[in-house]
Amino acid sequence: MPSHNSIPFEGNLLLDALGARDRALLAPHLVLAECPRGTVLFEVDDDVSQVTFPLHRTIAALIVPLRGGRTVETATVGHEGAIGGVVSQGYLPAFTRCVVQIEGAVLRMDADRLREAKRASPTLDDLFVRYADCLLAQILQSVACNAAHPIEQRVVRWLLSLQDRLGTDALPVTQNMLASMLGVGRSYLTGVLGTLQDQGLIVVGRGRIHLLDRTRAEAACCECHARVRRHFMSVMGAVSTPDGEILAVEATAVSSEPSSRSENCPPGPQEAAR
Ligand SMILES: [Zn+2]
Repeated sequence: MPSHNSIPFEGNLLLDALGARDRALLAPHLVLAECPRGTVLFEVDDDVSQVTFPLHRTIAALIVPLRGGRTVETATVGHEGAIGGVVSQGYLPAFTRCVVQIEGAVLRMDADRLREAKRASPTLDDLFVRYADCLLAQILQSVACNAAHPIEQRVVRWLLSLQDRLGTDALPVTQNMLASMLGVGRSYLTGVLGTLQDQGLIVVGRGRIHLLDRTRAEAACCECHARVRRHFMSVMGAVSTPDGEILAVEATAVSSEPSSRSENCPPGPQEAAR
C-alpha cells in the first residue's frame, strides 16, 4: 500500500478544489486503488464505511435492484463527485448498490475520518454539503425522467452525462451495460439505439457508442440533463469545456456567507454561453 505522500492528490474535482489546510486533513487517510469495471463498491444494506473519490475518467453508478433481477440506475458519479457517506454521514446501511461502470483509479478513505475532517473545517463541510445537494438533485430528476420521459430521451440523457465526465464523444459503454442502467431488455434497447442512429445522433460501435453532435443531442434530450447540469454548475461554481467536460469546481471562500453564493459563484463562462 502506498504512503499518502506518494498518492497523487489530483484527478477528483472535489479534492482538487480544496485548499492546503483542508487537503492536509484528508491526505493522511486517502488510499489509492484501481477498480475494474463491475467492481461493487457497496451492496444494498452494507455499512457504508468508506468514501470513494473517482479519479479522472472513473465512473460509478448508484443502482436500485428490483425483484426479478432488473436494475435501474439512479445516479452517475465521476471525477466531479464522491460516493458513500455523502448525503448521510456514513456508516448507515446503503440503500443502493454502487457499481463501477468505467474502470479506473479511485481514492478511498474511512467515512469516520471524513466526518471528523468536516467537523474541523467549515469550508470542507460546505463543499460536501453543496455536493450532496447536487447529488440529490440528480436523483430527484432521475425519478421524474424515469416516470415521464421516453426511453430514447433517457438514453441520450445518460450518454450526455457520461460525456460530461469523460470529455470524449467515444463513450466506452456496452449495450448490456446501458440496458442494465435503464432497466430494459437488451433486444428492446437495440431497437432504441437503432432509432437514435437513424436520427443521426449516435453511432453504435463495438464496446463504444459515439455521440456525434452534442448540440443536437442536447436538443433531442429531455430537459433533465440540462436541469441537473445547470444546478451543478451553479451550486458548485463549476467550469467546463465547450464540449461539455466539467473541468473544476469551486471551494467555498472562508469568509463567504451562504446567502452570497449566487453572487460569488456565477456559472462558468462556458456554461453561461450555452
Ligand atoms: Zn428526462
